[in-house]
Amino acid sequence: MKVLISADMEGTAGIVDRAHTAIPDRGPLYGIQNNAAEYDWARRLMTEEVNAAAAGAFEGGAKDVWITDAHGSMRNLLPLALHREARYVSGSPKTLCMLEGLDETVGAVLFTGYHGSAGTPASVLAHTYIGIIQDVRLNGVAMGEYGINAAVAGHFNVPVALVSGDNTVVTQVHKLLGPDVVGVEVKRGLGTYAAVHLHPEKAREAIRAGAAEAVRRAPRLRPYRVSLPVRLEVDIVGPDLADLAGLLPGVVRVGPRSVAYDGSDVLTMFRAWRAMLNVMMTRTAV
Ligand SMILES: [Zn+2]
Repeated sequence: MKVLISADMEGTAGIVDRAHTAIPDRGPLYGIQNNAAEYDWARRLMTEEVNAAAAGAFEGGAKDVWITDAHGSMRNLLPLALHREARYVSGSPKTLCMLEGLDETVGAVLFTGYHGSAGTPASVLAHTYIGIIQDVRLNGVAMGEYGINAAVAGHFNVPVALVSGDNTVVTQVHKLLGPDVVGVEVKRGLGTYAAVHLHPEKAREAIRAGAAEAVRRAPRLRPYRVSLPVRLEVDIVGPDLADLAGLLPGVVRVGPRSVAYDGSDVLTMFRAWRAMLNVMMTRTAV
């Protein structure tokens, strides 16, 4: 079985702040400066949790493990420190974004370092792709990154088999995808920027055991298949940004701060979503 690990950063044990997760050359975009030392240890914690997931996946029977760097500019993991039998996918932009490397031959997707959806209280560094997004719904169902990405995996008929992160993302994934997805809680959120953590080594042990179990369970897990056409609705912080999203072909304004897009299939919807995010990030109009 080929297994794809989608490795985000915010849900890693020990991490609670943007000073930990902002790649230093992009830090000033988020009002963060001089965070190189904190980012450096945070990326090492992320790398070791991903390695634990890879080791567990092999123990569970995976023959091929791909690791997709799924945070920010997608160049966080330390290549030389990664599990040497795994393939590493990095850089951006890529068509499948947080799931690049996914195809019909993958038997399970594992989410590591994931976080709750935008607006979730006491959820560490909760957001949905970028900070200007307040809520996302697919066919009326609210979800975070985990849900959008699960739908993309479902397009390829691939189930999500594991999520690791704080207590809130584990709860949200179980609610959306069902209780059989292995959930590994490595910290409990006390606020957006505060948590109680497992020791990183304990977190890795739990992730390794969870990934092995997830790969064993994968053949009987159901992929998350949304009905088609799929309606994407997005609530955005301000009407000025909704104006920009509304410039894209097929995107309609459905509220002061909300737009919608009907996709004939999940990948078309996902492209529209990514295009929306990127056009809004310009914050300029011509
Ligand atoms: Zn994320």
